[in-house]
Amino acid sequence: MSKFWSPLTASLVPYVPGEQPKDKAYIKLNTNENPYPPSPRVIEAITAAANADLRLYPDPTCEGLVQAAAKYYGLSARQVFVGNGSDEILAFAFAAFFDPAKKILFPDITYSFYKVYAKLYGLQTELIPLDEQFNVQVDQFHSDNGGIIIPNPNAPTAQLISLEQIKMLLDNNPNQAVIIDEAYIDFGGQSAVQLIQQYPNLLVVQTLSKSRSLAGLRVGFAFGSEELIEGLNRIKNSFNSYTLDRLALAGAIASFEDEAYFKETTAKVIHTRERVADQLLALGFKVTESKANFVFISHPSIAAEGIFKQLREKGVLVRYFAQARIDEYLRVSIGTDDEMDAFVRAVQEIV
Ligand code: PMP
Repeated sequence: MSKFWSPLTASLVPYVPGEQPKDKAYIKLNTNENPYPPSPRVIEAITAAANADLRLYPDPTCEGLVQAAAKYYGLSARQVFVGNGSDEILAFAFAAFFDPAKKILFPDITYSFYKVYAKLYGLQTELIPLDEQFNVQVDQFHSDNGGIIIPNPNAPTAQLISLEQIKMLLDNNPNQAVIIDEAYIDFGGQSAVQLIQQYPNLLVVQTLSKSRSLAGLRVGFAFGSEELIEGLNRIKNSFNSYTLDRLALAGAIASFEDEAYFKETTAKVIHTRERVADQLLALGFKVTESKANFVFISHPSIAAEGIFKQLREKGVLVRYFAQARIDEYLRVSIGTDDEMDAFVRAVQEIV
């Protein structure tokens, strides 16, 4: 606490990201990064950009990247927004669309950044509990609200809701923005981007951090009606007119040019996930049905925190949440086959 802080600063409880250890010896399965490197084309494009015009400011409209993403999804450039990771876009979207006079709705449990942004913007929240099996109860999202946000798949539970359920939400809330956070959609889900032409209230947020192996580059997208995208641009241009740097722009554009690499690495992650889920089930774990690049697991007799600590001693980092309802669970990101074999061996020594 400092006497120089505003009441707002003093009231905030900031988000604590997962650990990024300096020691490279850890098998790192704690922050849902992709175990495979980005496409070689991305590295070439970033290297070329580094050797070109870093002296100059980047394009404040990010036009090349907006167009690449629009083309990828068959949208117009006016239906696309880009930002420094989806976290930044979510921060803009909360400010742009959510009504402080009413409660905004999101699942309990979900991505913990939502609470942080709500607090930052002075928004009231109503948390809609997951059911017994950790499914998002879409029918409990009533329409007296100041906006809705749901990750699909949800984090950290990994479970997916259907496009039919999303349509129901959109139909029930024609006057509020409904944000679907698709950070993990490429690992087995169907994107709601296809609903954008039909629903002016839908904002779909995506990222290059997971399925495109570019967490270090910080690139995210929002797709939606022209009026929603214009709203995001108003907020963005009230903070920072440049957004993405030249290296990120070049790398992100190139990532859309190597579909074969994207498909191959994503398929590998999915294949490994299914294999590891079966192994964990055989070891007695409960495993939620994952459509993400992580599994959410619980052992019936050994405490999650204990497993987490023992894994850490054995050089394997996973994520433990000291939070009601999920404190008996671990979230384990899907690594390479070799990394996951080492993880399973370490688990076998514990259970
Ligand atoms: N949404 C969800 C549900 C996430 O889990 C994450 C990653 N922590 C993000 C958004 C943010 O991803 P990024 O800022 O790297 O795009």
